[in-house]
Amino acid sequence: MKLGCIADDLTGATDLALMLAREGLRTIQTIGVPRADLDLSGADAVVIALKSRTNPAQEAIEQSLAGAKALKAAGAQHLFFKYCSTFDSTDEGNIGPVAEALLAFTESDFTLACPAFPANGRTVYKGHLFVNGVPLHESSMKDHPLTPMRDSNLVRVLQRQTKLSVGLVSYEDVEAGLDAIRTAFEREKAAGHQIVIVDALSDAHLRAIGLASADLLLMTGGSGVAMGLPAAYRQTERSTAPISSTDFDAPAGRSIILAGSCSSATRGQVKAALEAGIPALRLDARDLASGTMTAQMALDWLKAQPANVPALIYSTATPEEVQTVQSRLGRMNAGEIVENTLAEIAKALPALGFTRLIIAGGETSGAVVNALDVDALAIGPEIDPGVPWTRSLAGSDLALALKSGNFGTPDFFLKAGNMLR
Ligand code: ADP
Repeated sequence: MKLGCIADDLTGATDLALMLAREGLRTIQTIGVPRADLDLSGADAVVIALKSRTNPAQEAIEQSLAGAKALKAAGAQHLFFKYCSTFDSTDEGNIGPVAEALLAFTESDFTLACPAFPANGRTVYKGHLFVNGVPLHESSMKDHPLTPMRDSNLVRVLQRQTKLSVGLVSYEDVEAGLDAIRTAFEREKAAGHQIVIVDALSDAHLRAIGLASADLLLMTGGSGVAMGLPAAYRQTERSTAPISSTDFDAPAGRSIILAGSCSSATRGQVKAALEAGIPALRLDARDLASGTMTAQMALDWLKAQPANVPALIYSTATPEEVQTVQSRLGRMNAGEIVENTLAEIAKALPALGFTRLIIAGGETSGAVVNALDVDALAIGPEIDPGVPWTRSLAGSDLALALKSGNFGTPDFFLKAGNMLR
């Protein structure tokens, strides 16, 4: 295994796994630390999805180290710590503390931190992170409920989180290419820095950074900076065997869409599916709370639908509707009621012959994947940026598309279904 990755959330892990698979590495994603008996021998890369982004730093460190140990035991030559391209964190962590712990684990003294993902509008210039051209501290991330980002200078942000000395490799070095980046790494090391923020404004920058970093035992960043690694590994590969991307084959069976996301992209996708005439059942959180609607009733509805077309079950609602529900039931309670119902429905699906599942929503995906006892995924073709088809590697044989709420074009559900025909 060339690369062992630890991601701090589920849809971020899928995003990284897709990036590596697309660039030619046979990639497996696991939900949590892989079971000891899971066969990882055919993988060039393994991505472990944790849920550690907003945990107390010590917990995030412990989970990440457990992942690192499992990856090393499975033969990983390099480690990659993946976090969000908006550098979601607080002064307490968890990017700094986890990077520090993993650097010590690999017994190395230098790594980089590069969240840039130009294809999704995230660029880093002179150490400052921009979101679609707006400095991070002026973007909507300034109001994030859990990790408000009020400083766009990542050298300062990261330095507040870690005892490691933080340096900067800026645009001029990156633009000058591979040799200049390597020289800049040496310069920063000589200046006593153990971790450097690296500027990147384009995919060409990310590929050059990947090539320059391929020897590092630990890299940290968004999925973007992993883009150059597969090519770098191929260059250093002694064997002549080409690294092929994962072959993808979906199991035969019925298709279903479960949407628990209320994000605007998902609302548009649900609307497009309804307009296309897909049989659909809407779940209202108040009905679920009162028992007027149950998972069993939804399953009875599902059984009555034609087998040759996908079905849609959704709780997707407008912000106004969500607010009304939340004021009645409480924010966390409303979310939990919906997640639990979708998870209960999901649990019954394999026995009903449903093998192709499209799930909309990050938290929703986590709840559904847990209920299905899926603990490892092979990465298949890309449906839209950041969202691949995946196939379960143990338990029920399922094809799963796990979509973060705001990803995907309006026809995502239909497009995803059609890809499997
Ligand atoms: P996204 O990726 O769009 O953020 P998530 O699945 O992560 O989607 O989060 C959506 C949250 O909203 C989940 O906890 C879900 O259970 C909850 N939810 C879904 N539908 C409703 C609704 N109609 N009313 C209140 N909460 C809802």
